[in-house]
Amino acid sequence: LTQLFRPLDMLGMVYRTVRQGLIDMAEMFRLIDTEVEVQDMPGAPALVVKRPSLSFENVVFGYEPERTILHDLSFEVPAGSHVAIVGPSGAGKSTIARLIFRFYDPQSGRILIDGQDIAQVRQESLRAHIGIVPQDSVLFNDTIGYNIAYGRENASDEVIAKAANDAAIMPFIERLPDGFATEVGERGLKLSGGEKQRVAIARTLVKDPPILVLDEATSALDSRTEQDILRTLKKVSEDRTTLAIAHRLSTIADADRILVLDHGRLAESGTHAELLRKGELYAEMWARQQSEDSETEKAGA
Ligand code: ATP
Repeated sequence: LTQLFRPLDMLGMVYRTVRQGLIDMAEMFRLIDTEVEVQDMPGAPALVVKRPSLSFENVVFGYEPERTILHDLSFEVPAGSHVAIVGPSGAGKSTIARLIFRFYDPQSGRILIDGQDIAQVRQESLRAHIGIVPQDSVLFNDTIGYNIAYGRENASDEVIAKAANDAAIMPFIERLPDGFATEVGERGLKLSGGEKQRVAIARTLVKDPPILVLDEATSALDSRTEQDILRTLKKVSEDRTTLAIAHRLSTIADADRILVLDHGRLAESGTHAELLRKGELYAEMWARQQSEDSETEKAGA
């Protein structure tokens, strides 16, 4: 019988994950592949957020016991502040996002939101407080209105229209023959990467979470669209505690604090100016990206 329940349990988890707004196809397939690792404790209370601070306390984590990915990681994102995580590929940046959404529990250490250990609260209440804008947004085969409204049950038309407006997708929707009722996805209208991301942002606005985790797109968008989206994201994150996983350093230079992750350890942290003055890992990464950018410009000229 357990053999029958396990796939059902997994499907339930995938369903819940999708309902809670993390609609990242790769993540879904990964979930189907993974056994259910995280269970609510019997009688776990709901997370109650008054001041949405987020902190990691001595977190140790590995997907497999013999390979530790995060080593004794501690950092704090004060309520309302903007913190960015940078670091080489494979350093563990996306792993941090997965732990915050509690796809896994740390082997030791704690992750706290407003002082509450997220491993001790109900997952559904945790996820209700977090908005994730993933790198590649996936839409449902349904109307564009449904795709936006999905952030929250019973969202009113006004809330949906405001979110579309704030995510700067309204002019696009207004040009469609059926407006919000236009079918999108495989069977309907195909949206560009930038348009899809705007729909994902609108969906997050409808959800209106106090904590945002942004997983910055790497290459899907052309640089003008990327700049537009970044401007929109900046507005969206204004009054929220924001953790941004960044690939391009130029996009996070004004963060309140930058964490530099290297092989799952916190190598440096500080503001952009402080880290440049320090002249170590971040300063090297910055210099490298500046020269790559000017090479690209020259090639394009
Ligand atoms: P990138 O900038 O390339 O996106 P990242 O810093 O986000 O990289 P992570 O995706 O967090 O890195 O991965 C950190 C390490 O964990 C990598 O070595 C990766 O191979 C490993 N890893 C990631 N997901 C899994 C998984 N589901 N099972 C086992 N190992 C994994």
